[in-house]
Amino acid sequence: MSPIAEAIEEYSKNLPKGVELIAVSKTFPKEDVEEAYNCGQRHFGENKVQELDEKYEALPKDIKWHFIGHLQTNKIKYMASYVYMIHSVDSLKLLQAINKEAQKHNRVINVLLQVHVAQEETKFGLLEEELYGMLAEGCWRNLQNVEICGVMGMASFTDDMIQVRAEFSKIKSIFDKCKVEYFNDKDSFKEISMGMTGDYKIAVECGSTLVRIGNGIFGKRYYQM
Ligand SMILES: *Cc1c(COP(=O)(O)O)cnc(C)c1O
Repeated sequence: MSPIAEAIEEYSKNLPKGVELIAVSKTFPKEDVEEAYNCGQRHFGENKVQELDEKYEALPKDIKWHFIGHLQTNKIKYMASYVYMIHSVDSLKLLQAINKEAQKHNRVINVLLQVHVAQEETKFGLLEEELYGMLAEGCWRNLQNVEICGVMGMASFTDDMIQVRAEFSKIKSIFDKCKVEYFNDKDSFKEISMGMTGDYKIAVECGSTLVRIGNGIFGKRYYQM
């Protein structure tokens, strides 16, 4: 068995029921995606629009593509016809722009609201209070072509696993609060996207439903995009 096949099998076996594995294929060639696909993997993640678009064109059309990178409004149009879920919505403006592009294709795009809980300033996302402010304002309720499916977040890049756990727990509590206050009647609001190769086990313990694994499946990335 190839290393990719072995890794897919291992993750699929070890993740609890209800936790979806997203294979993050950024920087890896489409042959690697194909190999994972041939093992039954269907959810893949990319963080650059152009790279996503090239892979989408070349690969089987039943792949569910997750966009997990920072997104500019002018790039939405390239993936609006096919993207399965956008994890990185960090403003009302972006949410409205996604809605508009989805409308042009007569479809509904799944989105997650990205929350910022990590220490680093470089990580994107809404601060907790900004998120509640946006939901309280209510404008999102009129957007027919986006489905808000939950939240996404990242922990700080640190070896301190106590801190990582505290941050994932924070994301879970933010999800719970949003659920109770705004999405209690919406079954589709159920996803918590958190956990990468180095910290996914903790993320799952804290309630993750979508883990985003790159290195752990495809091997070492030699450059960071
Ligand atoms: C690259 C990336 C991942 C995957 O990280 P690995 O450490 O390779 O598992 C997960 N989430 C986001 C947002 C990423 O950019």
